[in-house]
Amino acid sequence: LTAGLGVQGMLWVTSPACTELEEKVVDWLIAMLGLPQSFSLAGLGGGVIQDSASSAVLCSVLAARELKMAGQCRVSGSDHRLVGYCSVDSHSCIEKAFSVTGIGTSRLRKIKVDEHGRLDTDELIKQLQLDLKNNLIPFYVCGTIGTTSVLAIDPISKIGEIAETYEMWLHVDAAMAGTATICPEFRYLIQGIDKASSYCFNPHKWMLTNFDCNCFFVSNRNSLLSALSVMPEYLKNEKTLNKEVIDFRDWQIPLGRRFRALKLWSVISSYGEVGIRKYVRFHVGLTRNLVAEIEKDERFELFAYSGLNLICFRARGSDSLNYRLLNNLNESGEIFLSHATFNGKYVLRICVGQVRLTARSLENCWNKICEETDILLSSKE
Ligand code: PLP
Repeated sequence: LTAGLGVQGMLWVTSPACTELEEKVVDWLIAMLGLPQSFSLAGLGGGVIQDSASSAVLCSVLAARELKMAGQCRVSGSDHRLVGYCSVDSHSCIEKAFSVTGIGTSRLRKIKVDEHGRLDTDELIKQLQLDLKNNLIPFYVCGTIGTTSVLAIDPISKIGEIAETYEMWLHVDAAMAGTATICPEFRYLIQGIDKASSYCFNPHKWMLTNFDCNCFFVSNRNSLLSALSVMPEYLKNEKTLNKEVIDFRDWQIPLGRRFRALKLWSVISSYGEVGIRKYVRFHVGLTRNLVAEIEKDERFELFAYSGLNLICFRARGSDSLNYRLLNNLNESGEIFLSHATFNGKYVLRICVGQVRLTARSLENCWNKICEETDILLSSKE
């Protein structure tokens, strides 16, 4: 539908519908997901659809830098003393953002995690104090709700307090897990989110939405706009100049934009809040059942499970046994799993989030894993 309409949403004036539907659906999500009202366009903040969490992170770094440099960065360039923080298990897109912006990856401190994969806030404070002693300027910290490898939940409240104390921008990356807060029982995940300067999650990961769709929220849009607005002659129009409308080109890197809001509108309209909740609970329930299977099976060990839809496990044995298990499973062409290393061990991952997934497909997946594990274990004997 979006492709057929051929919308060029670069400015409000090139497609008022594209802009205004986006304002609406992203605002609906604030209420649906239990996010703070400070993220609403009605106040100082606002939400925008980006292509990916990586773009959202890049925009958050640009806005944070602009804020720290009091609007001077776009004119004078970056201050080489800026320094930012995330955990060793944060997504690599943060490192990429530090590289792309020219701040430099050596200026991104990757803080240790605890045994559950959560950013260690004592280590964060120690590093901050060291950096301040060395005349560096802390400006940015990223907390993750649902890390890529094990879906660990960083202590957002505590990181938020530290961000306030050290005057840093807090970006919260909830790329996949963010969808879960549509269920009130998972709102604990976003405890402390009111302290975040920005937040993003990907409806294209777990909210039934076609790729690509990331929702990026800021609690104060000024520094984002200051970092990304430009006004060449050919974009001037009365509505924009009179500040009567939102131009989402000022909230992202590219000028042109697709009508992604139509995808979200379609999902929300056809499933409804209740329907999406049902999916999330179904997936979480399936995951829980599989966790119970793994726990009672002596051939396997459960490594990480945060109560949502990702399981990290492995067959009892060496890393190389598990490496071969994963290879054999994927070579079979019947299922495809991915892996991670967690607490120094090679683990296999199952993520339950696909729209057509059924209890039967997960059962088949598990049977296949058991079958291949038996083959490997017996050949070892
Ligand atoms: N953040 C987290 C926690 C992720 O798991 C991922 C992707 O796996 C990303 C960011 C990057 O997502 P995208 O592909 O939307 O840039």
